[in-house]
Amino acid sequence: MPQPLRIAIGGFALESVSFLPGAASVDDFEKAAYHGDAVITGLRGSQSPGGGFIDVLDAEGAEIVPLVYTDLGAGGSASDEAFAHYCDLLCEGLRRVRGRIDGVLLFLHGAMTTPTRTDPEREIMQAVRGVLGKDMPVFVASDLHGNISADFCEYADALFGYHYSPHTDMDETGRRAARTLVRRLRGEVAPVTVIRKPDVMLPSIFTATSIPPLSDIVAEGFAWERDHPGILDISIFCGFAYADVPQVGFSVVAVADGDQALAERAANALAERIWSARRDLMHDDMVLDLKTGIDRAYEISKTASRPVVLLEHADRLNDSTYLLDALVKRGGRRVMVPYLLDPKAAAAAIEAGEGATITLQVGGWSSERAGPPVEITGTVLYAGDKSYRGTGAMWNGYPIRLGPTAVIDTGDIVVSLVSRYVFAIDLDPFTQFGLDVNDFDIVLLRSKTHFRAVYEPIAEAVLIVDTPDWGPADLTTLPYKNARPGLFPLDRQARAAFR
Ligand SMILES: [Zn+2]
Repeated sequence: MPQPLRIAIGGFALESVSFLPGAASVDDFEKAAYHGDAVITGLRGSQSPGGGFIDVLDAEGAEIVPLVYTDLGAGGSASDEAFAHYCDLLCEGLRRVRGRIDGVLLFLHGAMTTPTRTDPEREIMQAVRGVLGKDMPVFVASDLHGNISADFCEYADALFGYHYSPHTDMDETGRRAARTLVRRLRGEVAPVTVIRKPDVMLPSIFTATSIPPLSDIVAEGFAWERDHPGILDISIFCGFAYADVPQVGFSVVAVADGDQALAERAANALAERIWSARRDLMHDDMVLDLKTGIDRAYEISKTASRPVVLLEHADRLNDSTYLLDALVKRGGRRVMVPYLLDPKAAAAAIEAGEGATITLQVGGWSSERAGPPVEITGTVLYAGDKSYRGTGAMWNGYPIRLGPTAVIDTGDIVVSLVSRYVFAIDLDPFTQFGLDVNDFDIVLLRSKTHFRAVYEPIAEAVLIVDTPDWGPADLTTLPYKNARPGLFPLDRQARAAFR
């Protein structure tokens, strides 16, 4: 019998809005971290890249060597200390098993920044290569919103991105990486990887892969895989426009079986396609100003039998208050405001206890762009620490930890206050607290695309509202310093080409 494969797995991920003040600390990352065997027990069966790695390695009878795995989701930068801490943990773990493993699988988001770094993922890969050398196969899974640099891609033997947003294929992306690694180790394939970067960046709100022309471009990526047996894998990364880095924006990554020219042809064709479609990828007509959005929500909900979703998409830290403020002032509708991130307000409500009536200032703490805090008075329906396994299309089985949480009912509006950054993208914010989405006229979400899998089928309408927080639809309003010249839509000439 052949020796079982020994594969090290790890992950370190954060999608960073580099414009936001503050930075995620080691403590913050630790709240989402798995170490040692907990990497395997915590992620096995989950809809995550790590879950996908484990799935394939289990089926292969491989021995899994767990490193560290922490995915903080989205927020501001990582602190330089946190970067150094987890980069060192990954490298120390690899140093301990160097010479006794066959390959490595990592999950690195691709859009992390730190206060002094614009491409931390490249530095992690450089450090990993420093430990392992260039011959050890290191395969990487990344987020569709990764700003992938040519250097980061170069250090990986092969790179795999989510195909979809909402990210319903995070585990499948991990499986793609793991399967290809296993085939490589068995000598069945010899992956070569090519990256191309069209000079186009998209606001996250327009990265829903179900909407044309992005849906067509994703389908063309699949067509390359289908029609060319030499193509092992295609990833189309939409990038993350709110990280001000030179490599911001789209990337196409093609992995071919030993055929560099074929990988180049595929990546070139798809990159040119994205450049040609750049104007049509911007759906400015989908975005409403605040007053129009609220007016329309009230109008529709007058006769609707299903809830209207209002999307405060420019909010990057789940604490924007523009829509909440307007809804509180207007009143007269039953509104759910799930997962407003405000640990202080949550703690105060927990202190008061379930059943108490309390007045709180909520939200509006992350920066001056989040809007001022809003005063609410209501009854505490729930107070306590809350964790559960997600149930929606994207987070099925994934451990969700909200931390200290309180649900407040003002009569018109139910606000859930949480202590951890978790997007409301499925029905768990209702069902976990004994609420029913159908009892509400309006649901205020802060997601960009991930809510669509669950909410599109059940909502009467989805209204996208632009507010002045750090994730606006109009990228020309942001103070970029590092984004490379020539990028659409920042560059005047790239824009003028359409007139
Ligand atoms: Zn993403």
